Amino acid sequence: PRRVSVLGYPLDLLDNYPAWLTAHQGDGFHVVTLNAEMIMQAEKVPQLAQVIKQASFIVPDGSGVVLYLRLYGIKANRQPGIELSESLLKFAATQNPPLKVFFYGSAPGVAAQAAKNWQKRYPHLNVVGIYTGYQTQETEAELKKHIQTNQPDIIFVALGVPRQEYWIAANRHLAPQATWVGVGGSFDIWAG
Ligand code: UDP
Repeated sequence: PRRVSVLGYPLDLLDNYPAWLTAHQGDGFHVVTLNAEMIMQAEKVPQLAQVIKQASFIVPDGSGVVLYLRLYGIKANRQPGIELSESLLKFAATQNPPLKVFFYGSAPGVAAQAAKNWQKRYPHLNVVGIYTGYQTQETEAELKKHIQTNQPDIIFVALGVPRQEYWIAANRHLAPQATWVGVGGSFDIWAG
């Protein structure tokens, strides 16, 4: 991808985000779906700015960043994060063998319902772990061990911004080949 900058934040420009990401599955990514709200938060919180700048794949999720680039004559395709995740799920389910996916985050019951709904749609979807977003220190340690042991291919983290970004940055070494995606409120939407 071509890497450009919006107010000092990197953005990766591509025609087709899902196609590129799935073609490079296994290379290990921290996917950040960047929008104007995140940039405004990061301007106030240096730790968030640093994590965004270190992410390996940064997608223009919001129309604000796309518009900003257009003002500088750079054409970017908007890629809503939730749709990118949905493409990854479809990809995972249709591989032979299916890729291993992991759901972490959201309120009790939500991640499980979201996974169940996707499994209805894609019976071959291989969900290797489901954890709610409210863990104790002990159960979070168990969750991390689960990731390390199972080596999921795609790890969706729904803890909201900036917690999910911090959590991925701190833990992606546990499954270095995985695609780690912060998905915000997507589980709530998928759970319907
Ligand atoms: N969440 C969580 N643990 C927390 C705080 C939030 O799992 O400690 C979940 C929450 O249940 C919701 C998601 O994180 O499913 C945040 O969604 P939101 O739409 O607020 O995400 P954002 O707008 O920050 O991307």
